[in-house]
Amino acid sequence: MAIRALVWGENVHEQENAIVREIYPDGMHACIAGALAEDGGITAATATLQEPEHGLSEARLAQADVLLWWGHAAHGDVADEIVTRVQARVWQGMGLIVLHSGHFSKIFRRLMGTPCSLTWREAGERERLWVINPAHPIVEGIGPMIELPNAEMYGEPFAVPEPMETVFVSWYEGGEVFRSGLTWQRGGGRIFYFQPGHEVYPIYHNTQVRQVLRNAVKWAHNPQKWADPDAAPNRPIDAALEPLVEKGPRLHADGEEGLR
Ligand code: ZN
Repeated sequence: MAIRALVWGENVHEQENAIVREIYPDGMHACIAGALAEDGGITAATATLQEPEHGLSEARLAQADVLLWWGHAAHGDVADEIVTRVQARVWQGMGLIVLHSGHFSKIFRRLMGTPCSLTWREAGERERLWVINPAHPIVEGIGPMIELPNAEMYGEPFAVPEPMETVFVSWYEGGEVFRSGLTWQRGGGRIFYFQPGHEVYPIYHNTQVRQVLRNAVKWAHNPQKWADPDAAPNRPIDAALEPLVEKGPRLHADGEEGLR
């Protein structure tokens, strides 16, 4: 069965900036979904900020194995209720791929629990994303690096928790470095942050970037979903697998504390 990807796009720059519209006439989200659909094992749908419930209703999220997130100018317009809904789905096992300026999205900051701040510069400079974990499935077929002739610089320090895996480290023409491909797990959900994607450069048309996106969807897909991560049932003493006598300080029915 195909992996069901859902590409969420903020869809603001495409409406306001002629350069972005020329590069992505159908929206960045459509271009990203097109990259995913090049793999017969992935089906890709799209959702945008402007749709009711930002296109992320319970029913739509229930159909998503992996959610991709591109946002930049309107993070604050995403309703907290939807963020909580997406977070619950990640805990249940939905994969999440956070792209470029999604580092400052509510959902990413919520899941990381840290500021997720970084340094940045817009100079159209060269970026080389070095593959530093060549055995990782996310970089299958990528080779030693991805070179982008024009990129927005994102530099360290990147205020995220220590990742599970570091897949890419970027070098920029101006001298900075950045951990540009990182993974985490939150509950049952696998999370990948991938730095490229500034809207005024045709980065999601780059064949290697498109390959990384497909690889990342496959990596983030967790078929072992967790039905209810919030469930925390008590397992009573008399139901323990082995005979068990309760020990330790406690308050007895007669009010006396301690062991008996
Ligand atoms: Zn940017």
